[in-house]
Amino acid sequence: MPTAFCALVNLPSQLLRLSEGGEPALTHGPEPGSTDARAFSRLVELGVLERQEDLTAWDPCVGCDCDADERPIRRDGDRPVAVCPVDAGQDTVLAGHEIEIYRLRPGQLAAQVAQAAGLDGSPDLVVPGLWLLGRISGDRTLVLAMSTSALKHAGALDRLRAIERTTRYAMIAAVTSATEVAALAERGVDVIAPGDVFLPSLPQKPIRLDMDLLREARGMAEPPLLAINRMAFTAFYRGAAVRLSKRDFGLLGVLVRDARDGGAASPRDDLYRALLGRDDADAPIGDEQVDKSVSRVRSALCAAAGEPATHGRQILVAVRGEGYRLDIPGDRIQVD
Ligand SMILES: [Zn+2]
Repeated sequence: MPTAFCALVNLPSQLLRLSEGGEPALTHGPEPGSTDARAFSRLVELGVLERQEDLTAWDPCVGCDCDADERPIRRDGDRPVAVCPVDAGQDTVLAGHEIEIYRLRPGQLAAQVAQAAGLDGSPDLVVPGLWLLGRISGDRTLVLAMSTSALKHAGALDRLRAIERTTRYAMIAAVTSATEVAALAERGVDVIAPGDVFLPSLPQKPIRLDMDLLREARGMAEPPLLAINRMAFTAFYRGAAVRLSKRDFGLLGVLVRDARDGGAASPRDDLYRALLGRDDADAPIGDEQVDKSVSRVRSALCAAAGEPATHGRQILVAVRGEGYRLDIPGDRIQVD
């Protein structure tokens, strides 16, 4: 299933996150009337997103005997319905926008980002997924990475230099490893996170850039992705406050501890004890409570960062037979 967008988003950042999974990058349509629906429509007008054929099949039923791998989507008047082949009680009525599919056109996105940066001319494709947008002030060249895998391409930076030689390159890329950021900076490439450089989408202007940031970025150590304060029970993810109950915060605390201490998965019983708020060794482990709390923490993190809710499973990864692992590098977590 393609990813759905949360409301109130920074659409360019979302598109790059989508594109990180490779091509074609697909998304559902936005909920009609939602804050980002008009900005989304504008991207369609600009050719950055292209409408595809509607979905014809949906996820299988949950807890049904039909054993179908997927359910065909039929029309019931205006409404699409995912139909169980056996039990009509398992049918799911869908919203129209859920079956609308759009494909990201990377070249068009690169062109619109270049235009938002005030650049003329069309972007050059350096290697697949890596676009050279043009020269900005301060003897810098603006580069856009559609996915971080583009940077793994042998000779990508040499080719970049061969096309346009400047003292430094300002690269919009979702690189999260501090080591990689430092290695790129050494080679003259200052990485700027999409979430930092793109400003929130406006209905008529979905792609907006913080040009000052682009001119000034100097490949500094990146700010923490996650910052928690254990005394104040506050958490910030990608700079935005995460709304959590004290118990869920306790569970997050255990995940943070283990992420910083070697990055192993947190055992279920540790997570459960954190949820209970006491060290009750005899209590049977409440698997369901742990799962529910993890689910709430995932939603809260995604909501804070304006990320698709489905991204939560990648931030907080289930490890079979063990528990859960927080997939944030320890050096990107700040604990006060
Ligand atoms: Zn079924």
